[in-house]
Amino acid sequence: MSALEIHQLHKSFGSTHVLKDVNISIASGEFLILVGPSGCGKSTLMNAIAGLEPITSGEIRIGGEDVTWRTPAERDIAMVFQSYALYPSMTVRGNIAFGLEMRKMPKAEREAAVQRVADLLQISHLLDRKPSQLSGGQRQRVAMGRALAREPQIYLFDEPLSNLDAKLRVEMRTEIKKLHQRLGTTIVYVTHDQIEAMTLADRIAVMRDGQVQQLGTPDEIYNDPINMFVAGFMGSPA
Ligand code: ADP
Ligand code: MG
Repeated sequence: MSALEIHQLHKSFGSTHVLKDVNISIASGEFLILVGPSGCGKSTLMNAIAGLEPITSGEIRIGGEDVTWRTPAERDIAMVFQSYALYPSMTVRGNIAFGLEMRKMPKAEREAAVQRVADLLQISHLLDRKPSQLSGGQRQRVAMGRALAREPQIYLFDEPLSNLDAKLRVEMRTEIKKLHQRLGTTIVYVTHDQIEAMTLADRIAVMRDGQVQQLGTPDEIYNDPINMFVAGFMGSPA
């Protein structure tokens, strides 16, 4: 069964038709990367999957269930976005535990979950700090920890590394890959970095102007691009 199914999805803002018949099916445990030029609709699609924006028409299924009209909280997903909004007045521990508290997880269980992701992301020594006392990379780890603590069916990452410097980006990319291999989670991940796409993805969806131009393995997309646009975007050999 598919972890995530997007069926004939359309999204307009007023008279602007942004997503035009998007169809994507993602297997459980799959790492799908969305790429495409700025403004092509990647974030709009992520927000639609998350339930942050009502869609115009179509259907979204998570774990086989129709979630099209459910609120974000009623969908079994966790998100990490580019602007990692941590709560400034809460400690790292509080930030990571926040979503668990909202779901009324008992305290002991919550603490165990926080410790588990803190160990995984190597931020145990930072648990009592406030976000303002962290570096950019550390903050991004905390944002990721908050998502991981929830153990949802699907993770959505929208350009999570684009605010980091080049060195840290490579480090975090390696860590995300390890996390995926270790946890076997289903991930939809937006990036404009072709190398990130090629190294992380099981499959890549190349978007243009609100439509998926091609969906395939990195090898297929790179070596057998369906048109000039995909070839140009992925830097395929001529
Ligand atoms: P990407 O993430 O691929 O850069 P977006 O999904 O953010 O692209 O945006 C796709 C298009 O939708 C853009 O033309 C953008 O201006 C438009 N758009 C996005 N959000 C809104 C909104 N809330 N209201 C109106 N237009 C929007
Ligand atoms: Mg975007």
